[in-house]
Amino acid sequence: MSRPRPKSPERKLPRVTVLATGGTIAGAQSPRSGRSYTSGVFSIEALLGAAPGIESLAELEAVHVASIGSQDMSEAVWRDIARRTQAALDRPEVSGVVVTHGTDTMEETAYFLNLVVKSSKPVVLVGAMRPATAISADGPMNLYNAVATAAHPEAGCRGVLVVANDEIHFAREVAKTNTTQVGTFKSTHRGLAGLVSAARIHFYGWPVRRHTSGSDLVVSGSRPLPRVDIVYAHAGMGPEAIRAAVRSGARGLVVAGVGNGNMNAAAVAAARTAARAGIAVVRSSRTGGGVVERNVEMDDDRLGFIASDELNPQKARILLMLGLSQTRDVAALQELFYAY
Ligand code: GLU
Repeated sequence: MSRPRPKSPERKLPRVTVLATGGTIAGAQSPRSGRSYTSGVFSIEALLGAAPGIESLAELEAVHVASIGSQDMSEAVWRDIARRTQAALDRPEVSGVVVTHGTDTMEETAYFLNLVVKSSKPVVLVGAMRPATAISADGPMNLYNAVATAAHPEAGCRGVLVVANDEIHFAREVAKTNTTQVGTFKSTHRGLAGLVSAARIHFYGWPVRRHTSGSDLVVSGSRPLPRVDIVYAHAGMGPEAIRAAVRSGARGLVVAGVGNGNMNAAAVAAARTAARAGIAVVRSSRTGGGVVERNVEMDDDRLGFIASDELNPQKARILLMLGLSQTRDVAALQELFYAY
């Protein structure tokens, strides 16, 4: 008779907190093949239940935060997500946080968290392009991979990450580039943080700029962050949109400029007037890639403008909001765009 084998000690799974905010990943359509759907219908428990085996990756605790399409994301919800993320990560038993989120503004929430959460533990945002009820819904595998990433021992110290379509992106680098395709997220400047295939993970790189624990930017108190508006440049642009933003109380402006952050003479004149009145003016680009450099086609030193470096307009807006809550000094604000 063979002796019973000693039981192997149970492997303790990492604990991952999942914060649910809505989005297409929790969306339902009717009929199943139809194009119309409603975001944020399914509970986080239902989403986790649709990813068989996810419970073997981590010990999960799910928290409902919001049920919104991310087009409705707001500073109030950002703050709520940031506060809950920080609280979870501050608990020694929590290894990482996953945030389920609509894809429309995922890059903005990811970058906001990347600047204000102070922890070296992983934070992973995840969404889906197809509703939970769609044929070949991409949500369950994305969620499975996101939990695997947040539970991975080497996922920390990389800033906030976005997982979708078997790819791991850095918050600062990622952008949504397509209205419907599952491969919508791209990191065009310097590539991926890593790849993840059915929970098998390969990390490639490290963030190039300050983030999370290395960031001095904070969101504190209940006073809203200074208002920053984005104005989109185009051929034949007039001064009206810039003037309207200033008149309605913007403390900062991001111009989604043509090419290297350019705008025509009428817009430059309006932006210069705004800058002279103490409004921070950041030149970003509508091209979707590349560095906006100082003093190339525009004399930023004379005009009092700030160059966004590589940040797209929507991320430049977030950095400027946080920056303006610390300083209104143009040179100091410019330094933030080189640091973050
Ligand atoms: N507008 C929705 C959202 O951002 C759809 C995009 C998605 O989640 O894929 O929540």
